[in-house]
Amino acid sequence: MPAKAAPYGRVTQKAPAVPEVHILWITAGLGCDGDSVSVTAAMQPSIEDVLLGAIPGLPKVHLHNPVLAYEVGDDFMKYFYMAEEGNLEPFVLVVEGSIPNERIKKEGYWAALGTNPNTGQPITTNEWIDRLAPKALAVICAGTCATYGGIHAMEGNPTGAMGLADYLGWDWKSKAGLPIVNVPGCPVQPDNFMETVLYLLYQVAGLAPMIPLDDQLRPTWLFGNTVHEGCDRAGYYESGDFATSYSSPKCIVKLGCWGPVVNCNVPKRGWMAGIGGCPNVGGICIGCTMPGFPDKFMPFMDEPPGAKLSSTAIGAYGMAIRNLRNMTNRTVNKEPKWRHSGTKLTTGYQPRAY
Ligand code: SF4
Ligand code: SF4
Repeated sequence: MPAKAAPYGRVTQKAPAVPEVHILWITAGLGCDGDSVSVTAAMQPSIEDVLLGAIPGLPKVHLHNPVLAYEVGDDFMKYFYMAEEGNLEPFVLVVEGSIPNERIKKEGYWAALGTNPNTGQPITTNEWIDRLAPKALAVICAGTCATYGGIHAMEGNPTGAMGLADYLGWDWKSKAGLPIVNVPGCPVQPDNFMETVLYLLYQVAGLAPMIPLDDQLRPTWLFGNTVHEGCDRAGYYESGDFATSYSSPKCIVKLGCWGPVVNCNVPKRGWMAGIGGCPNVGGICIGCTMPGFPDKFMPFMDEPPGAKLSSTAIGAYGMAIRNLRNMTNRTVNKEPKWRHSGTKLTTGYQPRAY
């Protein structure tokens, strides 16, 4: 039908029908629910703005997160069963917490959500992912545990914990052709997460191109720079002026800051309402957004590689130092080899003798 002429010569066109979208958020991985709590502080955009329809062009959004929901028990769980049966289309799946490996043991379970009414047994987190991921329009990992395994996936852990891409496969694609979208951070920076959700919702509405991701499946515009590149103290670093105590405003690399080799925008963005940002406010960067976290950054308070270089060396050998930093950056951007699915636990776990 031809578009209708409106007063003052404008032309009105019917907006395309935008579907309602459900966000199913599983916090039943191994984690502390800290990402859900963190995201309540988001302002760009806030959860409230997205859910109350304050942002033009977005579909209507319904959020199902156990930490934030009004419903409990079966009233909350019914949305997960509906999604599994194909009666909650379309939905985006958010995974929070690392994925334990339920295949490495004969009995019991590591993590679960809800109870199977037929067997009376808990429904494991692994099972929920197997049920829901193939039906989701997009899958987003919130925080470092879900993205790369995080704290629970340290060497020597008994659960075989891993990130979602280790579980589903790094080449996995949703039914809409989207890769897993990783938004790491321990916890996730709230605006980084909500901005990624916003991007994907615009993509669902046909208003944004394919989300740009790097080889670790992180949004490139959020994780393309290092902590050091956005740090308020970088001027001190370049002049070789280093802090020897936490009360100093100078560069804290010699107190253990890994900022030069860590991909994270927190010093630029702050934590809440632009305030904070680890090294800006005196906290060493421990690399919490990185695939190699925590193992490749420990012990946290030791000087990271390159911290012993003098200011003269930094000036004279800038190119060589940049190359060394790039090498370290590549190393810490790789997960340790024991984070994988399969039937063998290879973390080096030694059961205690009682
Ligand atoms: S405190 Fe860390 S991130 Fe900031 S300038 Fe020093 S080394 Fe770089
Ligand atoms: S600055 Fe470092 S410790 Fe702070 S959030 Fe970013 S990666 Fe984590």
